Amino acid sequence: MTVYNFCAGPAMLPPEVMKKAQQEFLDWQSLGVSVMEISHRSAPFLAMVEECEASLRRLMNISDEFEVLFMHGGGRGQFAAVPLNLHLDGLPGVYVENGIWSGGASQEGARFTSVESINIRTDKDGLFDIQPVDKWQLPADASYIHYCPNETIDGIEIFDVPKRKNAPIVADMSSVILSREINVDDFDIIYAGAQKNIGPSGLCIVIVRKTLLTREGLPRPSILDYTIEAKQGSMYNTPPTFAWYLAAEVFKHLEAMGGVPAMAAHNKAKAAILYDYIDSSDFYSNKVAKHCRSLMNVPFWLKSDSLNELFLKQAEQAGLVALEGHRLVGGMRASIYNAMPIEGVQALVEFMDKFAKEHS
Ligand code: PLP
Repeated sequence: MTVYNFCAGPAMLPPEVMKKAQQEFLDWQSLGVSVMEISHRSAPFLAMVEECEASLRRLMNISDEFEVLFMHGGGRGQFAAVPLNLHLDGLPGVYVENGIWSGGASQEGARFTSVESINIRTDKDGLFDIQPVDKWQLPADASYIHYCPNETIDGIEIFDVPKRKNAPIVADMSSVILSREINVDDFDIIYAGAQKNIGPSGLCIVIVRKTLLTREGLPRPSILDYTIEAKQGSMYNTPPTFAWYLAAEVFKHLEAMGGVPAMAAHNKAKAAILYDYIDSSDFYSNKVAKHCRSLMNVPFWLKSDSLNELFLKQAEQAGLVALEGHRLVGGMRASIYNAMPIEGVQALVEFMDKFAKEHS
């Protein structure tokens, strides 16, 4: 039976990449050992990381104005690193909030610096909506403006980018990176925990504008210091070597698939199949306004929560796994990242339709 994994993260990775990694597990580049067992300062490893960065730069069209860092600590590590590196005396870190992760970033930021939170989300008659980017009440001055373009739990995606207002724009792209085209120049820091569209958890990609590396910020652990990491080629300490290798393989695979434009078309098509079905059904519902529905994470609710357990059990028997919604919001959630094939979404819709007919 084919299993389709709808987990929000750690999430499904391209099967082709996993098969290649399996073949190389005990013998990488004919070295007779795996990539996890060699020095991160050895020539083969250094060549791999160089090509990894070059590949990501090609995929996202990242200019020389930016450093690309491969850091530890996942997305949440950056919740702390951003205020620690970007703090300016007397100016707040501004957090645009529209869901659980942007709220979490704000809470963590408040441990280190003064924060100003701006709520852009409305919940009216059970429908979640967000204010358009040009209506956000951003202060003229801030040490940075942080937002989360895709709220993984709430299923809310912000497609426009805020205009810079005398403050660097920082985006938590953990669950949206490489899923659609963006203009990196619109941002000052982009960070993304790897475990959705990139590779194993723990690794975090940080794309940081070089001009920010001169900010003094706050006293901080060296491991979270962008300037130190940039100077050390992301090897201040031993990097997560296997995660880095697998990220390189995923980037190579994405390039071979046609890069980000191809992923964007693929993701749009998948999301349309699922949302169109949910909208056409009286049995299922999604609570997000159409213009800001996530293309990556699709939360949906059954007509009655009393059917949730049965739905999950039968879905699993049909090979459709990890559909349970996040514990904070309930319901179901189908995460359909880059690696989810269209056949997986079709199989999910077929199953949902059969289930609805049996329980209407
Ligand atoms: N930000 C977003 C948008 C996420 O979806 C997640 C995790 O799912 C995180 C941050 C936290 O990432 P991590 O668990 O790698 O710290």
